[in-house]
Amino acid sequence: MKRHLVFLLTILLYTLSFSQLINLKGIRFNGNPPQMVIDVDGAIKPRFSIDYDEASRLLFIELPGTEAGDNFKSRVLNGNYIEKVSVVKYSNSTGVFAFLNKNVNFKTSYRTDPVRVVMDFSGKVNKKEYTIVIDAGHGGKDPGAVGFNKYHEKDIVFSVANYLRNELLRDFNVIMTRSTDNFVSLAQRPRKGNNSKGDMFISIHANADKSGKGSGFEAFYFSKKSSPYAERVASFENSFGAKYGEDSGDIAQIMGELAYKKNQEESIKLGENLASTYSKKLKMKNRGVHGANFAVLRGFDGPGVLLELGFISNKYDVWKLKQSKYQRLMAKDIADNIRKYFY
Ligand SMILES: [Zn+2]
Repeated sequence: MKRHLVFLLTILLYTLSFSQLINLKGIRFNGNPPQMVIDVDGAIKPRFSIDYDEASRLLFIELPGTEAGDNFKSRVLNGNYIEKVSVVKYSNSTGVFAFLNKNVNFKTSYRTDPVRVVMDFSGKVNKKEYTIVIDAGHGGKDPGAVGFNKYHEKDIVFSVANYLRNELLRDFNVIMTRSTDNFVSLAQRPRKGNNSKGDMFISIHANADKSGKGSGFEAFYFSKKSSPYAERVASFENSFGAKYGEDSGDIAQIMGELAYKKNQEESIKLGENLASTYSKKLKMKNRGVHGANFAVLRGFDGPGVLLELGFISNKYDVWKLKQSKYQRLMAKDIADNIRKYFY
């Protein structure tokens, strides 16, 4: 009987404590000291629980029995400690997802007058040492390959390039050789990368063939020698220069012979890893890694790969290439491999 009473009292107290939701006025961020502050309305301290996933560096704070005001909202910060914050408002609880940068530690505490929950950040700040150049092939008046159901290569690769940019921004500086549907010459692309001191060049394309039978993913690196097949793909991509009044032969190889060998080795390693993980994750054929004389890769001073995401002329490949769900998977796999390469 006594036990029942205690149980009922607990339920009652629990219900009472929830009947009045604590109002969260807002969430703000300080630079010095680096903090995330949750401002509370009134004198009652809200409870909170914390979950941290090491692999994704995703921190989740839940504040049960609270209600968040209009100023309590998601933010993109691109800061030294936090990349972005997403706020989720439940019916009687508030959740905050914070995407932390590398090597960041955190400590949470209450402060009073006024009441607030403070998360202090410390650790070695991620300075984003490396710059990745993302080169979405074609654009503007140059549609690239026109495939099954008239899908344009330029649109598909631009979409994947943007997903890749979002993936990489957490850990890298990112340069896009084109950030809209505009025409950029082959020569301008590596030049943009060199001018911004890019550490790696990722050129994104989709393949095509006349029969519509070819399918799968393949990666290319710059090589002065190539197989007849790789040479054909390179001439096809290089031909878009000529089509729009540019002689891709004019694009000089700017790396010296030693750098050429070193970059080639590095590019092959990245290409091989990519072809293997991409084909597994996307369930697409692995067509391997080939060397060929691609104008865009030749002009860049560093390792680089040209990726043919799939065949735009093949109806099964197109089915994946056109869907944002698969485009995101493609971008994620490319980003994972770049991360693995640098860190
Ligand atoms: Zn292309």
